[in-house]
Amino acid sequence: MPIKILIADDSASDRMIIKSMLSEYTILTACDGMEAMQVLERDEGINILILDINMPNMNGFQVLESLNNDEGFRKIRTIVLTNQDELDNEIRGLELGAVDYIRKPIHMASLKARIDVHVALLRAEQALEQQLDEQTLTFDMVFEQAPIGIAITYRSDSENSTNTIIRINKAYEQITGITKEDLIESGWVKLTHLDDLEEDMNNFTKLQAGEINSYSMEKRYIKPDGSLVWVHMVVAALAPIRKYKLNHICLIQDITERKQIEIERKYLSEHDRWTGLYNREYLEDFLAKDAKHKLWSKRALISINLSSIQSLTANYGFIYTQGLIKRTSQVLMQLCSNNRLLFQTHESRFVFYFSDYRDKKELIEFCDAIADTLESLFATDRIGGGIGVLEIDQDQNKLEIDILLRRLLIASERSISMFGKYFEICFYDEILEDIVSRERFIIEALTAITTDTNTNDELFLQYHPIMNLETGTICGFEALARLNTNKHGLISPVEFIPVAEKSKLIIPIGEKVIVKAFNFINKLMELGYNDIVVSINISPIQLLSPNFTDRLFELIDQMQVNLRNISIEITESVFASDYEYINNIIEVLRDAGMHISIDDFGTGYSSLSRVKELKVDSLKIDKSFIDNLLDPDQNKAITGDIISMAHKLGHSTIAEGVEYEEQKEYLKKHGCDKIQGYLMSKPLDEKDAIEFLQKCYK
Ligand code: C2E
Ligand code: MG
Ligand code: MG
Repeated sequence: MPIKILIADDSASDRMIIKSMLSEYTILTACDGMEAMQVLERDEGINILILDINMPNMNGFQVLESLNNDEGFRKIRTIVLTNQDELDNEIRGLELGAVDYIRKPIHMASLKARIDVHVALLRAEQALEQQLDEQTLTFDMVFEQAPIGIAITYRSDSENSTNTIIRINKAYEQITGITKEDLIESGWVKLTHLDDLEEDMNNFTKLQAGEINSYSMEKRYIKPDGSLVWVHMVVAALAPIRKYKLNHICLIQDITERKQIEIERKYLSEHDRWTGLYNREYLEDFLAKDAKHKLWSKRALISINLSSIQSLTANYGFIYTQGLIKRTSQVLMQLCSNNRLLFQTHESRFVFYFSDYRDKKELIEFCDAIADTLESLFATDRIGGGIGVLEIDQDQNKLEIDILLRRLLIASERSISMFGKYFEICFYDEILEDIVSRERFIIEALTAITTDTNTNDELFLQYHPIMNLETGTICGFEALARLNTNKHGLISPVEFIPVAEKSKLIIPIGEKVIVKAFNFINKLMELGYNDIVVSINISPIQLLSPNFTDRLFELIDQMQVNLRNISIEITESVFASDYEYINNIIEVLRDAGMHISIDDFGTGYSSLSRVKELKVDSLKIDKSFIDNLLDPDQNKAITGDIISMAHKLGHSTIAEGVEYEEQKEYLKKHGCDKIQGYLMSKPLDEKDAIEFLQKCYK
């Protein structure tokens, strides 16, 4: 930027000399104070004034005073020209705002040097000003055009809000609908949603106390029309400026749309879509939070488990059962209160969370109310169910939620299976707990066995002799699985087989049984007993597993077992589930040469026509029919009829559970083919079974 210098001096020669010295600058001249003022007013942008003090019309001091009175001349740097002996004038000149003085007669080099210094200063000052202007401009631009809302607050003390400067930008106004005036009048506290206030206040207090430099959160502002806007907000402390010590900047971004999607998603993830009730995930979260807070109040979970829903869907269709479920949710909702919350953990399972109840009596009364409500709702639909109750005691707070809910399910399912009535109540208690923990123990033991982990628990077989009634000789054995454990001793198959079935461990366990039984068959062959048939019990789960037959034939092949020595026992109830499919499987096995028996015959639901179609060799008449033979007259005829019916349909018969001679005689008389029972022997270990056989054939 060019530098303009005005020389005001009544001496024409001095003016000339100075002008010639400073030829690189733009020079203007005036011959007295008056003219100097006129030039200053006319010519804008004069930077330096070289001012002689002693001038006619208007002297240098008067010029300085005039300059002082006019804000427009504030930036002019004035250098006064004085005579050698005018020290007072120099001082006065400086007091009146001159920045320097030069004595006459003028020493040219010194004048030049001084002017150059002032020009340099001037330039530096100009550069700084320009930079500051640019910065201010940039900040204002950012502030006004930013797509995020900005509010800057300068405050001198926390008590009194009068000494506060607030600046907010357009975006802030647009997002919140709040004007600067509103903000000053109400303060942000009143404009913040109540649910977000505590967090905001806590953080803000820490910020003002200097404990934190900034904080961020998602919060809701209440717009003047009462609607809400969700914002992501960052608040940061700003450095103090003069008396303003409590300064901060607040940046906000409108996240209402995202928040709405989030809220919708959250709603969907926490509620059942059909009934609108809170779902299992929500219950889990709720219980996890609850475990931390309400340590001392009484709490219980009450599960309502509807049965027969699936068969109703099959018969009447999905819409019908959906309607039922909706109505169930509606009637149950009427039983809700502040301390009774309702959840739907599964399509046909509802859970009440009951807190702060008095005693067990109150719980039972509530369960009765549920049962009454549902029984009258389902009066015509023949839907039953179970009501399971789990009281959460202090210890259970430490339990995993999953275990808690599993226990609840056990209680409700048990109440379904325990009684045939519509809605019965079952409390989860120690007995149930024992059953569950024993079940868990069995699963662990079986798992260890299937993975060949080295424990002292053992799976082995005993063999129960089967006698041919016609010849009176032993014609076979039934292989019976045994589980011997270190902790609980011998566990009956009646207990561990259903557990293995439920956990699907029956597939690897069953294979182990097959291998052991095959080994036994091969041992008997080595000993020369070529015609002894060993029966192996096969669970429906095994039979229905995809590659059961392939695996069985593979083992037969590997172990070189004679197919004629293998008998497969399957329970009658298997046919209830998938008759055709199972009949096809057993046909394959039978065609290969294996013997097939229906176990526990008479306890299932086979109709006569079905029994005829079964591709089996023999029917194993259930022990209950054999027990009945001891009764002087009752039912005797039935057992005889079963035998003759089986024969007519082309099946041979085996009677199991024969304990008395009297039963044997009856069976013999009615043409039963084989018998099995304690009358001959109890199930025997492998070594004893072989000895038993050897004795029979001596
Ligand atoms: P099941 O196949 O009907 O076996 C007959 C059960 O009746 C055996 O009980 C046997 O010891 C018992 N029993 C036989 N004669 C008499 C008698 O005269 N009096 C009395 N009181 N009982 C007699 P166990 O060994 O306890 O087996 C029970 C059930 O466990 C079996 O019934 C079978 O369903 C199942 N099971 C046993 N081993 C296996 C196996 O390896 N696989 C599968 N899937 N199930 C098995
Ligand atoms: Mg059996
Ligand atoms: Mg049986």
